[in-house]
Amino acid sequence: MKGKPKEPAVPPERSETLRQLIIELIDGHALSAKEISGNAGVSVKEVYGHLDHIQKTVDTKAYRFSIVPAVCKKCGFMFRKRGRLKKPGRCPVCKGETIEEPLFEIDRTVRDRERHTG
Ligand SMILES: [Zn+2]
Repeated sequence: MKGKPKEPAVPPERSETLRQLIIELIDGHALSAKEISGNAGVSVKEVYGHLDHIQKTVDTKAYRFSIVPAVCKKCGFMFRKRGRLKKPGRCPVCKGETIEEPLFEIDRTVRDRERHTG
């Protein structure tokens, strides 16, 4: 065993900025990882990494992270399995491989609450 600490692939500051950008992109807009990737200028793989982090660390008092599940275009099966962000490879029902990508969205719950009470 070597005691060398594992260094992150991206500097923390850059990750933080990117995460903020991704949050802003999907704030009120459901986007697929591919669309986020195009808008943020990072790879889809990187987007999934950030989404995973956002999902785990988002301030649930202020934001709600929601996922529109992937859907099989052939039979309409919905991939509701929680915790999985990535688009599934094939449908377990019809074995079809044409899958509609999952979409990610952030809702600002605080803003909504203020609107209702104010
Ligand atoms: Zn299917």
